[in-house]
This record gives sequence, structure tokens and C-alpha cells, in this order.
Amino acid sequence: MTTMSIDYAGWQARAAALSVDAGLFIEGQSCAAQDGAVIEAINPANGVKIAEMACGSAADIDRAVASAKQAWEDGRWRYLTPRTRMDIFRRWADLVEAHALDLALMETVTMGKPITDALTIDLPESLVTIRYFGEAIDKVSGSVTNSPQDALHMVMREPLGVVGAISPWNYPLLMAAWKVAPALAAGNCVVLKPSEKAALSCIRLAQLFVEAGGPAGVFNVVVGYGQDAGRALALHPDVAKISFTGSTGVGKQLMIYAGESNLKRVSLETGGKSPQIFMPDLQDLNTAVDRAIMGIFDNAGQVCNAGSRLLVHADLHDAFVDRFVERAASLYAPGDPLDPATSLGPVVSHTHQHSVLGHIMRGMADGAALALGGAADAARPAGAYVQPTLFTGVTPDMAIGRDEIFGPVAALFRFEREEEAIALANDSVYGLAASVWTSDVRQAHRMVKALEAGVVWVNCFGDGDMTQPFGGYKQSGNTRDKSLECLAGYMQSKSAWLNLA
Ligand code: NAD
Repeated sequence: MTTMSIDYAGWQARAAALSVDAGLFIEGQSCAAQDGAVIEAINPANGVKIAEMACGSAADIDRAVASAKQAWEDGRWRYLTPRTRMDIFRRWADLVEAHALDLALMETVTMGKPITDALTIDLPESLVTIRYFGEAIDKVSGSVTNSPQDALHMVMREPLGVVGAISPWNYPLLMAAWKVAPALAAGNCVVLKPSEKAALSCIRLAQLFVEAGGPAGVFNVVVGYGQDAGRALALHPDVAKISFTGSTGVGKQLMIYAGESNLKRVSLETGGKSPQIFMPDLQDLNTAVDRAIMGIFDNAGQVCNAGSRLLVHADLHDAFVDRFVERAASLYAPGDPLDPATSLGPVVSHTHQHSVLGHIMRGMADGAALALGGAADAARPAGAYVQPTLFTGVTPDMAIGRDEIFGPVAALFRFEREEEAIALANDSVYGLAASVWTSDVRQAHRMVKALEAGVVWVNCFGDGDMTQPFGGYKQSGNTRDKSLECLAGYMQSKSAWLNLA
């Protein structure tokens, strides 16, 4: 994508001219909510209204699930040849790429993501997701087992039916793509319930699927509140699986809904409080500190795997803190997310800003030392900004070191021994990701094995590609996104035993 030539004024002009279709998307058509309700999309950088999105409720979920169920039953998607579905995926990805500027802009104006991040992370990653799962469509196969002479035993891989996807606001398009692309590639039909806080790009994603030749009714979108539309989708008897990314609390609720309804499958990608461990023999402190800063302040800390716990060996501690404070203030100065130079935008809303500031006040009250930030950005009162913040002297009993804050707030612990670092790292209900910085490969291997996390990085943070199963241990979830392991989660096996005697 050749997009970086647009300057700040250019993006402001483009944002002012952005036109969106913010209806529900059911049976290939944009439509209003049955009761006419709307949700305002507000730009968190300045409080300005961007659009009114149709706000679906249980009645709209019923319509969308009926549409997906009909598409499932008549086979208009799953019975297309794999090659035909691959062609549709290819055209879909090309259309997403062709609309990349507007899709990136939608992320920026709805949830405050810096436009440069939207263009260099969210859009390319979404494209890779669609292309990866599209390419996988004709690579799926079952097996024929070594059965007796007078029998034939085939294990077939089949889609599930109607999949309900419920996604968060922090990477609106990308998190939706992580669910919808593998679900569709496996042959399912989908109802997506994106976050009510940032849904414009998700609606567009479904429209582009139909423009690419995807049959109507196969990919539906109902924007709405979690307690209403989300709950209705998760309780729906015609939904075979809920694929969820969001908070651990809502994830627990979804398992209850499944038990109360049809025992649908529930796959969960939930919260995190990821540790980054800095051993005294790490090769290059400057690089490690820069990656630590990126690991917690990218996307204003609103990242499930944000490296929000910094575990720093006593020998490095003072140099680490000094460099972190000096570099973070310049690398992540708050700015208008429409300015291509900005790397720290607002958090998603004023409500969320108050929540993050509340965690910061609790950290101070508990006795952690504030080394950087700790407040809203006084220069931008209309925006939901939080300064990049670092607490030192954090101990395991402090809430600031345990709770997921989902904002630009790092909690730094000091340790002296490897076992102490492992114990601190694993002392969490979460287990999404972790990193280790060391130049000793044996130590690295030992620590990778000891860490309770679904993803462990060594001498890096956040690296990976689509082959990487992404998901958590413990209360960070029960599934994996990305990778062929994820695709398998949208299928079930059928054992066909043919008596040939
Ligand atoms: P959230 O749990 O508040 O909402 C997520 C989605 O669930 C939204 O679409 C929301 O409307 C819906 N929802 C809320 N209540 C519901 C209910 N009772 N029934 C059905 N649906 C309901 O999370 P959020 O604030 O949108 O996102 C932040 C959270 O997401 C963080 O905890 C973060 O760690 C997590 N997250 C995890 C991953 C991962 O891969 N593990 C990735 C991104 C975000």
C-alpha cells in the first residue's frame, strides 16, 4: 500500500469528507435497526460525532441469524467449489486493499488509533489474515484410516453452521478479520457483532465481501450493545459457535449463555497482564528498553498482550528506568491521531480514560512510585488522552501490578533471581503472552518452558506472522487465533464408517 504520502492536512480533509454507510448488514443489504435505534460514533480525540450507526437488538440478531441459517442450509457458500470460494476471498482482499485509506481512517476517527499505525499494522495484518485463510481453503483435508479389509473409514472435516463472532474495539477490523476469515474459509456462515464503540470498518468489511462476489446472507453484521445484541447472539439456539475476543468477565458470561441455551462451542480470546522479563545478561539495554516502551505504549496500551508488567533485574534497574523515562516521553508524546507523526492517540473514550486514571490513582495510593506521566493530557482536554505512565517499586499485592488496565500504564517490578522472576511472571490469573530478554540460550529455553503463557517472545516483543497460534493460558482464553490451528476450530470431524462386507 502506497499511503504514506498523505500529510496531516490531507488526512484532516479526508476525515472531514469521509462518508459511511452505518446500517446493519443483513442478507447482503444495509438496513436500519427494527426499532430505529442508533448509536453515535464519537471521535475520542476531540469529542466530535462521526456518524450514527444503526443499533441492533435481539430482533435484529434474529433476522441476521435467520439469514445466515438459510444461507447455511441451502449451501450457497459451503457447496461452492473450493476454488470458487478462494477466488471470492482473493477479490475480497483486493477490495480491502483498494479501500485501505478509508478503512484506516475509520479506525482512527472511531477509536483514536494513530493513522500511521492503522496503515502500517491494522490494514496489512487484516489483508494477510484474509489472504492466509483464503489460501487455506483447498488445503483442508480429512483422512482415511487403516481400517479392516471389509470397511472403509473416513474422517471428514466439516464446517459447524452459523458462527457468531463478537469482537472488541481495540483493533476493530483486524480482530473481526481474525474471526470472520477463518470461519468463512472453513465454510461457515457468520453473524458478526462488533464492538458498539468502533464498528464502521467491520460493516465495510462485510459490504466488501458481497462486492467481491460473496453470496448474500453468508456474512452479516449487527452492531449493538453487548448486553442486548451480543447476549441475544450468544443465547441463540441456531448459532453453533461463538468466537469471542474481549474481556475475561464477558468471556465467562458467554460460557454461561452457552450452557443456558444449546451448548454451543465458545472460543475465547480474553484479557492479559503480560510480563516482560529483563535479565542482567541481555545483549543491548537500549534496544530492550525501546521494545519495552513499544510493548506497553503502542495503541495507547489498549492491546490484549500489552507488556504491562516490566520485571527488571536489580543490576539493570536504575539504568533501565532512566532510559525508559527519557525515551518514552519523546517516542510517545500525545498527539492528534490524524497526524502521521503521532504515535500516541487518545484512549477509546472519556469513560475509559476515567477508568485508566482511576487505576493510576489506586497505584499511587498503594505506594507505587510514579516515574513518568500519571495524568490526562492537560493540553488536550477535549480528547480522552492519558500520558504514558510508568510506576516503579511495584509489588505483587498492588492492584496496579495485577489488574488489566488497558491503557498506557506500565508497572515495574524489581527482582534478583531467575526463579523469582518466573514466580512473579506466573503470579497472575492471565497467561496471554510474555517476553524474556537474555543472551543465554539455555536460560532462554528454561524460562520459555517455565512461563505460563500462550505466546513467549525471546529478545523481541510482539513479533510473529500468521503461522503463529495466538491465544492464552489460564483466564486469557481457551483457543488460538491465526494459524491453521485456528482454522481447525471452525470445523468439526465426522467419522464415516462404511461396511463393505
Ligand atoms: P468487552 O468484553 O467489553 O467487549 C467485547 C465485545 O463483547 C463487544 O462487542 C461487546 O459489545 C460484547 N459484549 C459485552 N458484554 C456482552 C454480553 N453480556 N454478551 C455478549 N457480548 C457482550 O471488551 P472490549 O472493551 O471491547 O475490549 C477490551 C478487552 O478485549 C480487553 O480485556 C482485552 O484484553 C481483550 N482483547 C483480547 C484479545 C486477545 O486476542 N486475547 C485481543 C483484543 C482484545
